[in-house]
Amino acid sequence: MKRISILGATGSIGQSTLDLIRRDRDSYDVVALTGGRNVAQLASDAKDLRAEVAVIEDEAGYAALRDLLSGTGIEVAVGSAAIEEAASRPADWIMSAIVGAAGLAPGWRALEQGTTLALANKESLVTAGPILLSHARDHGATILPVDSEHSAIFQALVGEDIAAVERIVVTASGGAFRDWPLDKLATATLAEASSHPNWDMGQRITIDSASMFNKALELIEAKEFFGMRPDQIEAVIHPESLIHSLVGFRDGAMMAHIGAPDMRHAIGYALHWPERRDLPVERLDLAKVAQMTFRAPDPARYPALALARRVMEEGGLSGAVFNAAKERALDAFIDGEIGFTEMTPVVEATMNRISSSDGLQNVHLALDTVLEADRLARIRATEVIRETR
Ligand code: NAD
Ligand code: MG
Repeated sequence: MKRISILGATGSIGQSTLDLIRRDRDSYDVVALTGGRNVAQLASDAKDLRAEVAVIEDEAGYAALRDLLSGTGIEVAVGSAAIEEAASRPADWIMSAIVGAAGLAPGWRALEQGTTLALANKESLVTAGPILLSHARDHGATILPVDSEHSAIFQALVGEDIAAVERIVVTASGGAFRDWPLDKLATATLAEASSHPNWDMGQRITIDSASMFNKALELIEAKEFFGMRPDQIEAVIHPESLIHSLVGFRDGAMMAHIGAPDMRHAIGYALHWPERRDLPVERLDLAKVAQMTFRAPDPARYPALALARRVMEEGGLSGAVFNAAKERALDAFIDGEIGFTEMTPVVEATMNRISSSDGLQNVHLALDTVLEADRLARIRATEVIRETR
């Protein structure tokens, strides 16, 4: 029996993970399931899978969760400290699928038990890449990438010498607005930004795909996870989302991972790693696919990619600042405070303000300095947003 926990169980990745677990439920013991606000989903999954503990982040959901689970013997807890505690409970495999920088601390705690951490939460690597990897090493823990691009790269590297890698090509669908006239982007509504051409994902990452902030995060994530130089990481638009990413080697060969756009590929690979097992994903008929197309991302349409370059060059706490400013700008777009095309300028202005006035350049990278940079960046981004309006 494999003991597993899922942080962010009620979200898109969490639910896809549970789908795989349910298909083979006798092989798993569910330790902890955590959610943000969706009490009904969390309670029903905890009951169905007989979890040991269910934790809800939102205080307002606690009473309802307790009522729904009373008499089941399932422990109930609330708050972010309780999520971290749940992450520290012994488990063989832990899915990190909370969205945003909120996923960093629970994953950090999970690593301390020397477990295998399946990392969907890309923000962990963007904000704290070098220390997250050394923390894992210090505790004998394993991190497996779950972002589809990074799982693809990881799989393309099996049996290869990392020193033979020349470059990594991260594919991007181009998001909801890849074919929109540029001058229309400023009028994009929340509903329009919240629909993805190929992938069915949580709302935040879907909007981040339209703005390519998601790809920006992923370029940084790839640089950190695979230990590359910034100039070794590229993005290419591939509208069909069938090639999930590629690795180019020193002899000119490229290895690509091809499959249907279904996150259960990457989740299942991490769940069964180092083995490959049957997965309930569509098998591609290449004759039907007929063609796959590629194009360079237009910097005018996707200005977030230039900010990713800057973060990769700067290193240190710039990833934490970038991510927090992005999260705050995304909140402002969702709340109707700023327009779609104002998100990138807000993030850039926040990064500039912090580098000119808050002097984070020489602060060493540690969990507490990352969390502090995150807090400060949200304050600065809020100032910038206020001035924007
Ligand atoms: P989602 O919004 O669908 O789910 C997020 C989960 O985190 C939910 O369980 C939510 O309740 C919980 N949560 C939100 N805020 C929280 C907080 N402050 N504290 C504790 N829990 C909180 O998101 P998702 O699409 O499943 O994405 C999860 C992570 O996986 C993100 O980092 C995303 O970038 C990454 N990812 C997702 C996909 C995808 O297909 N959805 C693909 C690749 C990577
Ligand atoms: Mg991805």
